Amino acid sequence: MTTIAFIGLGNMGNPMAANLIKAGHTVQGFDLVAESLAVARDHGVTVMASAVAALKDADVVITMLPAGKHVLSVYGDIAPKAKTGALFIDCSTIDVDSAKKAHTLAQKHGLQSIDAPVSGGTGGATAGTLTFMAGGADEAFARAEPILKPMAGRIVHCGGDGAGQAAKICNNMILGISMIGVAEAFVLAEKLGLSHQALFDVASTSSGQCWSLTSYCPVPGPVPNSPANKDYKPGFAAALMLKDLKLSQEAAQGAGAVTPMGAEAAQLYALFNAQGNGGVDFSGILNFLRGRSA
Ligand code: NAD
Repeated sequence: MTTIAFIGLGNMGNPMAANLIKAGHTVQGFDLVAESLAVARDHGVTVMASAVAALKDADVVITMLPAGKHVLSVYGDIAPKAKTGALFIDCSTIDVDSAKKAHTLAQKHGLQSIDAPVSGGTGGATAGTLTFMAGGADEAFARAEPILKPMAGRIVHCGGDGAGQAAKICNNMILGISMIGVAEAFVLAEKLGLSHQALFDVASTSSGQCWSLTSYCPVPGPVPNSPANKDYKPGFAAALMLKDLKLSQEAAQGAGAVTPMGAEAAQLYALFNAQGNGGVDFSGILNFLRGRSA
């Protein structure tokens, strides 16, 4: 069993750490927020006084932080002080450039590193069924895979440094665009006098079928456990969708890719967030579109 330092014990980090403990690992955790540390302690995490203190005897360091600037700042503090040859796994969703910089920083100090963002939300983090999208050298990935397993439903090695982040933002760009498409179809159906269930029954078994419709339907009824049935309580908050769409558009600009639908989705989610909906599930964009319809 492995001693793991876990930095960033928020909505995702805490349940992920709990699954590592259930698998028999020792987890030494740190977060800036006292409430998060209290939850972690209840899960069996050994709470440490700082990120550097959490490194004590740790062969693996996992970070689950809000954005690239947090990851680079924490890596700057801990990479020079980590155990020789330790493996750094960053599970945060961050921009590809920062992910590559984090790899360089770790490798400069003789550490192995992978970027391993996740899909599956807090439900998947709790159930231990997250999809991990990993980027990094083969050797680092082989070492990371058994560590990720207790938190994972699926682990995909996407390529070299930063490839996990690239896969994550491409996937979430599809998700943002497809959710708007499905929501638009329901708003149009309402205007045409078509029931939600009738559209669902047709589209879910026709060429309009997609995850945003069949697993996460943005109107209440057809998919009983979708956030639409719980007053759009997240789930996956609109603020996080906007973050990922912005990352996709920054990456597209940097790489010279044309992504007009991604750009439009980013704009619509920016407007939705600006109306105070950052904490609402991203499928709530349906209400925004409905509100703008005549
Ligand atoms: P969160 O805000 O709940 O947790 C982030 C934690 O990092 C916070 O508790 C914060 O206090 C801590 N933190 C920030 N700076 C720190 C530092 N310097 N040292 C120690 N701790 C620090 O966010 P979350 O929902 O857990 O998401 C974490 C990451 O996972 C984000 O990058 C997010 O985009 C990604 N993600 C989230 C979801 C989701 O559904 N919540 C799904 C997939 C991916």
